[in-house]
Amino acid sequence: MRQLVYAGTGRVAWQDADEPPPPARADAVVRPLAVARCDLDAPMVAAGIFPGPFPVGHELVAEVVDAGADVRRWRPGDRVLVPFQVSCGACAACVDGRFAACHTYRAPAGAAYGFGAAGGGHGGAVADLLPVAAADHQLVAAPPGVPVEALCTVPDNVVDAYRAVGPPLLAHPRADVLVVGGAAPSIGLWAAALAVVLGAATVRYVDTDAERCARAAALGADPVHHGGAWPRRFDRAAVTVENTGDADGLATTIRSTDDYGTCTPVAIHFAATTALPLLEMYTRGVTLVVGRAESRGHLPAVVDLVASGRFDPLAVGPTVVDWAEADRVWLDPATKLILRR
Ligand SMILES: [Zn+2]
Ligand SMILES: [Zn+2]
Repeated sequence: MRQLVYAGTGRVAWQDADEPPPPARADAVVRPLAVARCDLDAPMVAAGIFPGPFPVGHELVAEVVDAGADVRRWRPGDRVLVPFQVSCGACAACVDGRFAACHTYRAPAGAAYGFGAAGGGHGGAVADLLPVAAADHQLVAAPPGVPVEALCTVPDNVVDAYRAVGPPLLAHPRADVLVVGGAAPSIGLWAAALAVVLGAATVRYVDTDAERCARAAALGADPVHHGGAWPRRFDRAAVTVENTGDADGLATTIRSTDDYGTCTPVAIHFAATTALPLLEMYTRGVTLVVGRAESRGHLPAVVDLVASGRFDPLAVGPTVVDWAEADRVWLDPATKLILRR
């Protein structure tokens, strides 16, 4: 089979690889139908963040091609979404619903597809075949009638956007939402779009990029085109999404969070330590939610939003490219790059 691999800093290439063996009793082998490039995928290759070579890609919709003897929910031909994190569904953490904390699958950067050894050595999504453990637990049914290029975006970056606005809006349905920055270009726009869909009172989208601001406006948010240094704060909102990736932008977003509100960074802060306005956070009761999105946990809620037609992931304006072009386009600039067979 063929798979796209990270081949060294700034390079990807097609590689021939052995087909995976027949699945173990609880596992499955799937054939990816469409793959979206995560907002981390391009910088991961461009900057060589994790040691390679390794097969890339971790946002996918796929077709089951083989299922182990104990798999009850899936047969060959079923279309499924694959959470980007790998979990077993049976350990104490999984039983507790903390699938991303799975005790069975551990890895330095969290067990996941498409991260090489740092993610536990699981396969990549830009491949003809991908083995999936614990298929009954991990896989989520792809809703019929939704194009594969829309579905493939859901397991990571759409879920990431959802977890930043969905749970806080469920707790406070008419809250104001503020998204600051475009470091993860698709996640910030999806956060704005989901906030509109979920009924936020107001949704403001702040970005240095005029094109993304225009897209945010088309999604129903109020765009704020901002250049230069981050201000001390913007007008406050109870739900804020930090997408600047820099320390000043994080502090600005925290100060822009209303009393007893929630600020969720969706950009990754690679610095080991960053100064935070902790006294202000304490005094005003601001909650800072730091961590990766929990893919398996949020997937069903997000799939429901997509299946019902309330939320269309394609509204952010993705670039859809033929699968065979993956090696040529993987590092191209795009708000969202999608590969489709
Ligand atoms: Zn990702
Ligand atoms: Zn587990």
